[in-house]
Amino acid sequence: THFGFKTVEKARKASMVADVFHSVAGKYDLMNDLLSMGVHRLWKRFTIDCSGVRPGQRVLDLAGGTGDLAAKFSRLVGPTGQVVLADINEAMLKVGRDKLRDKGILVNMDYVQANAESLPFPDNHFDLITIAFGLRNVTDKEKALASMFRVLKPGGRLLVLEFSKPQIELLSKAYDLYSFHVLPKIGQLVVGDGESYQYLAESIRMHPDQETLKTMMSEAGFEQITYHNMTGGIVALHRGFKF
Ligand code: SAM
Repeated sequence: THFGFKTVEKARKASMVADVFHSVAGKYDLMNDLLSMGVHRLWKRFTIDCSGVRPGQRVLDLAGGTGDLAAKFSRLVGPTGQVVLADINEAMLKVGRDKLRDKGILVNMDYVQANAESLPFPDNHFDLITIAFGLRNVTDKEKALASMFRVLKPGGRLLVLEFSKPQIELLSKAYDLYSFHVLPKIGQLVVGDGESYQYLAESIRMHPDQETLKTMMSEAGFEQITYHNMTGGIVALHRGFKF
Protein backbone atom coordinates (compact mmCIF):
# COMPACT_ATOMS: atom_id res chain seq x y z
CA THR A 1 0.00 0.00 0.00
CA HIS A 2 0.90 3.61 -0.26
CA PHE A 3 1.75 3.85 3.40
CA GLY A 4 3.37 0.45 3.61
CA PHE A 5 6.26 -0.33 5.94
CA LYS A 6 8.95 0.67 3.46
CA THR A 7 7.42 4.06 2.79
CA VAL A 8 7.11 4.81 6.48
CA GLU A 9 10.66 3.62 7.17
CA LYS A 10 12.02 5.78 4.37
CA ALA A 11 10.13 8.83 5.51
CA ARG A 12 11.39 8.23 9.03
CA LYS A 13 15.00 8.06 7.91
CA ALA A 14 14.68 11.17 5.73
CA SER A 15 13.19 13.24 8.53
CA MET A 16 15.76 11.95 11.01
CA VAL A 17 18.59 12.97 8.66
CA ALA A 18 16.96 16.39 8.32
CA ASP A 19 16.78 16.78 12.11
CA VAL A 20 20.39 15.72 12.54
CA PHE A 21 21.79 18.26 10.11
CA HIS A 22 19.50 21.07 11.24
CA SER A 23 20.72 20.44 14.74
CA VAL A 24 24.45 20.33 13.96
CA ALA A 25 24.72 22.86 11.07
CA GLY A 26 26.11 25.74 13.13
CA LYS A 27 28.85 23.66 14.71
CA TYR A 28 29.37 21.25 11.82
CA ASP A 29 32.85 22.44 10.82
CA LEU A 30 34.11 22.52 14.39
CA MET A 31 32.79 19.02 15.02
CA ASN A 32 34.43 17.67 11.86
CA ASP A 33 37.80 18.92 13.01
CA LEU A 34 37.26 17.66 16.52
CA LEU A 35 35.90 14.21 15.76
CA SER A 36 38.35 13.37 12.99
CA MET A 37 41.19 15.18 14.77
CA GLY A 38 41.63 17.26 11.64
CA VAL A 39 42.14 14.26 9.37
CA HIS A 40 39.01 15.00 7.30
CA ARG A 41 41.04 17.80 5.76
CA LEU A 42 43.52 15.26 4.39
CA TRP A 43 40.73 13.02 3.07
CA LYS A 44 39.26 16.01 1.27
CA ARG A 45 42.63 17.14 -0.08
CA PHE A 46 43.18 13.70 -1.57
CA THR A 47 39.73 13.91 -3.16
CA ILE A 48 40.64 17.24 -4.77
CA ASP A 49 43.90 15.73 -6.02
CA CYS A 50 41.95 12.90 -7.69
CA SER A 51 39.39 15.19 -9.28
CA GLY A 52 41.38 16.04 -12.42
CA VAL A 53 39.36 19.24 -12.55
CA ARG A 54 40.37 21.93 -15.04
CA PRO A 55 39.57 25.61 -15.58
CA GLY A 56 36.22 26.16 -17.27
CA GLN A 57 34.66 22.92 -16.05
CA ARG A 58 31.32 22.39 -14.37
CA VAL A 59 31.36 20.71 -10.97
CA LEU A 60 28.57 19.48 -8.72
CA ASP A 61 29.43 19.13 -5.02
CA LEU A 62 26.47 17.08 -3.91
CA ALA A 63 25.44 16.87 -0.26
CA GLY A 64 28.06 19.60 -0.16
CA GLY A 65 26.98 20.91 3.24
CA THR A 66 29.26 23.65 4.47
CA GLY A 67 31.18 23.68 1.18
CA ASP A 68 34.74 22.52 1.97
CA LEU A 69 35.14 20.85 -1.42
CA ALA A 70 33.10 23.44 -3.31
CA ALA A 71 35.40 26.24 -2.11
CA LYS A 72 38.44 24.43 -3.50
CA PHE A 73 36.71 23.60 -6.80
CA SER A 74 35.61 27.18 -7.20
CA ARG A 75 39.26 28.23 -7.33
CA LEU A 76 40.25 25.36 -9.64
CA VAL A 77 37.59 25.91 -12.32
CA GLY A 78 38.15 29.68 -12.30
CA PRO A 79 35.81 32.39 -13.53
CA THR A 80 34.88 30.53 -16.71
CA GLY A 81 33.84 27.44 -14.79
CA GLN A 82 30.91 26.77 -12.51
CA VAL A 83 30.45 25.02 -9.17
CA VAL A 84 27.08 24.00 -7.81
CA LEU A 85 26.86 23.35 -4.10
CA ALA A 86 23.75 21.22 -3.63
CA ASP A 87 22.33 19.95 -0.38
CA ILE A 88 18.92 18.83 0.79
CA ASN A 89 19.25 20.76 4.02
CA GLU A 90 18.55 24.47 4.12
CA ALA A 91 20.50 25.06 7.35
CA MET A 92 23.66 23.35 6.05
CA LEU A 93 23.36 25.19 2.73
CA LYS A 94 23.07 28.51 4.52
CA VAL A 95 26.18 27.88 6.64
CA GLY A 96 27.99 26.88 3.43
CA ARG A 97 26.88 29.96 1.54
CA ASP A 98 27.86 32.32 4.34
CA LYS A 99 31.24 30.66 4.71
CA LEU A 100 32.04 30.82 1.00
CA ARG A 101 30.91 34.43 0.82
CA ASP A 102 33.19 35.28 3.72
CA LYS A 103 36.03 33.70 1.79
CA GLY A 104 35.19 36.02 -1.11
CA ILE A 105 34.01 33.22 -3.36
CA LEU A 106 31.07 34.47 -5.37
CA VAL A 107 31.32 34.57 -9.13
CA ASN A 108 31.18 30.96 -10.19
CA MET A 109 29.15 29.48 -7.30
CA ASP A 110 25.54 28.41 -7.29
CA TYR A 111 23.59 27.08 -4.33
CA VAL A 112 20.79 24.63 -4.89
CA GLN A 113 18.58 22.89 -2.38
CA ALA A 114 18.11 19.46 -3.88
CA ASN A 115 17.63 15.82 -3.04
CA ALA A 116 20.36 13.57 -4.44
CA GLU A 117 17.67 11.08 -5.42
CA SER A 118 16.12 13.41 -8.00
CA LEU A 119 18.62 16.01 -9.13
CA PRO A 120 17.08 19.10 -10.77
CA PHE A 121 19.71 19.40 -13.54
CA PRO A 122 19.73 18.58 -17.26
CA ASP A 123 21.22 15.33 -18.60
CA ASN A 124 24.95 15.27 -19.36
CA HIS A 125 25.61 18.52 -17.55
CA PHE A 126 28.60 18.15 -15.20
CA ASP A 127 32.26 17.25 -15.78
CA LEU A 128 32.65 16.14 -12.19
CA ILE A 129 30.38 15.18 -9.32
CA THR A 130 31.63 14.77 -5.76
CA ILE A 131 29.65 13.49 -2.83
CA ALA A 132 31.61 13.57 0.41
CA PHE A 133 30.18 11.93 3.52
CA GLY A 134 26.80 12.34 1.91
CA LEU A 135 25.75 9.08 0.24
CA ARG A 136 25.51 7.42 3.65
CA ASN A 137 22.67 9.73 4.55
CA VAL A 138 20.67 9.24 1.38
CA THR A 139 17.64 6.98 1.77
CA ASP A 140 17.59 5.46 -1.72
CA LYS A 141 21.23 5.19 -2.74
CA GLU A 142 20.53 3.34 -6.01
CA LYS A 143 18.22 6.10 -7.10
CA ALA A 144 20.77 8.74 -6.14
CA LEU A 145 23.58 7.03 -8.08
CA ALA A 146 21.31 6.76 -11.14
CA SER A 147 20.47 10.43 -10.84
CA MET A 148 24.16 11.35 -10.62
CA PHE A 149 24.88 9.19 -13.66
CA ARG A 150 22.19 10.99 -15.64
CA VAL A 151 23.50 14.52 -14.97
CA LEU A 152 27.14 13.62 -15.55
CA LYS A 153 28.62 14.29 -19.01
CA PRO A 154 30.02 11.37 -20.98
CA GLY A 155 33.69 11.31 -20.00
CA GLY A 156 32.83 12.82 -16.64
CA ARG A 157 33.75 11.33 -13.29
CA LEU A 158 32.08 10.68 -9.98
CA LEU A 159 34.01 10.73 -6.70
CA VAL A 160 32.38 9.25 -3.61
CA LEU A 161 34.19 9.98 -0.36
CA GLU A 162 32.64 8.02 2.45
CA PHE A 163 33.21 6.05 5.62
CA SER A 164 33.91 2.46 4.77
CA LYS A 165 35.12 -0.75 6.32
CA PRO A 166 38.37 -0.67 8.33
CA GLN A 167 40.72 -3.27 6.89
CA ILE A 168 42.27 -4.51 10.13
CA GLU A 169 40.23 -6.28 12.82
CA LEU A 170 41.90 -4.41 15.67
CA LEU A 171 41.40 -1.06 14.00
CA SER A 172 37.79 -2.02 13.37
CA LYS A 173 37.26 -2.74 17.08
CA ALA A 174 38.95 0.44 18.25
CA TYR A 175 36.97 2.40 15.74
CA ASP A 176 33.66 0.90 16.86
CA LEU A 177 34.52 1.78 20.42
CA TYR A 178 35.35 5.30 19.38
CA SER A 179 32.28 5.88 17.25
CA PHE A 180 29.73 4.32 19.59
CA HIS A 181 31.10 5.50 22.90
CA VAL A 182 33.31 8.55 22.46
CA LEU A 183 31.62 10.24 19.51
CA PRO A 184 28.11 10.65 21.01
CA LYS A 185 29.65 11.99 24.23
CA ILE A 186 31.60 14.67 22.40
CA GLY A 187 28.41 15.45 20.46
CA GLN A 188 26.55 15.86 23.71
CA LEU A 189 29.24 18.10 25.17
CA VAL A 190 29.82 20.38 22.20
CA VAL A 191 26.48 20.54 20.40
CA GLY A 192 24.29 19.39 23.29
CA ASP A 193 23.03 16.63 21.02
CA GLY A 194 24.38 13.15 21.60
CA GLU A 195 21.60 11.53 19.60
CA SER A 196 22.69 13.03 16.30
CA TYR A 197 26.13 11.57 16.82
CA GLN A 198 24.65 8.26 17.81
CA TYR A 199 22.93 8.35 14.41
CA LEU A 200 26.28 9.14 12.80
CA ALA A 201 27.88 6.05 14.34
CA GLU A 202 24.96 3.85 13.28
CA SER A 203 24.90 5.21 9.73
CA ILE A 204 28.61 4.48 9.40
CA ARG A 205 28.14 0.89 10.49
CA MET A 206 25.20 0.39 8.10
CA HIS A 207 26.94 1.86 5.07
CA PRO A 208 28.00 -0.50 2.27
CA ASP A 209 31.65 -1.58 2.36
CA GLN A 210 34.21 -0.91 -0.38
CA GLU A 211 33.25 -3.77 -2.72
CA THR A 212 29.50 -3.34 -2.22
CA LEU A 213 29.65 0.34 -3.12
CA LYS A 214 31.78 -0.51 -6.14
CA THR A 215 29.08 -2.92 -7.32
CA MET A 216 26.34 -0.37 -6.70
CA MET A 217 28.20 2.19 -8.81
CA SER A 218 28.65 -0.32 -11.56
CA GLU A 219 24.93 -1.18 -11.49
CA ALA A 220 24.15 2.51 -11.89
CA GLY A 221 26.19 2.51 -15.12
CA PHE A 222 29.58 3.77 -13.99
CA GLU A 223 32.72 2.24 -15.48
CA GLN A 224 36.41 1.82 -14.62
CA ILE A 225 35.54 1.96 -10.94
CA THR A 226 38.41 1.98 -8.47
CA TYR A 227 38.68 2.82 -4.82
CA HIS A 228 41.40 3.99 -2.52
CA ASN A 229 41.38 3.26 1.21
CA MET A 230 42.48 5.97 3.59
CA THR A 231 43.28 5.73 7.30
CA GLY A 232 43.16 1.94 7.11
CA GLY A 233 39.83 1.86 5.31
CA ILE A 234 37.95 3.98 7.84
CA VAL A 235 37.33 6.11 4.78
CA ALA A 236 37.44 5.21 1.09
CA LEU A 237 37.39 7.27 -2.06
CA HIS A 238 35.55 5.58 -4.95
CA ARG A 239 35.99 6.84 -8.47
CA GLY A 240 33.93 5.96 -11.50
CA PHE A 241 33.42 7.29 -15.03
CA LYS A 242 30.48 7.71 -17.34
CA PHE A 243 31.31 6.88 -20.94
N1 SAM B 1 30.12 17.23 2.00
C1 SAM B 1 30.23 17.93 3.27
C2 SAM B 1 31.50 17.55 3.95
O1 SAM B 1 32.17 16.64 3.49
O2 SAM B 1 31.86 18.17 4.95
C3 SAM B 1 29.01 17.66 4.15
C4 SAM B 1 28.79 16.24 4.58
S1 SAM B 1 27.52 16.05 5.79
C5 SAM B 1 28.15 14.76 6.79
C6 SAM B 1 26.23 15.25 4.93
C7 SAM B 1 25.33 16.18 4.14
O3 SAM B 1 24.45 15.39 3.33
C8 SAM B 1 24.44 17.06 5.00
O4 SAM B 1 24.68 18.40 4.71
C9 SAM B 1 23.02 16.62 4.61
O5 SAM B 1 22.08 17.65 4.64
C10 SAM B 1 23.24 16.09 3.21
N2 SAM B 1 22.19 15.17 2.71
C11 SAM B 1 21.59 14.17 3.39
N3 SAM B 1 20.69 13.55 2.63
C12 SAM B 1 20.72 14.16 1.42
C13 SAM B 1 20.03 13.96 0.19
N4 SAM B 1 19.11 13.00 0.06
N5 SAM B 1 20.30 14.78 -0.85
C14 SAM B 1 21.23 15.76 -0.72
N6 SAM B 1 21.93 15.99 0.40
C15 SAM B 1 21.68 15.20 1.47
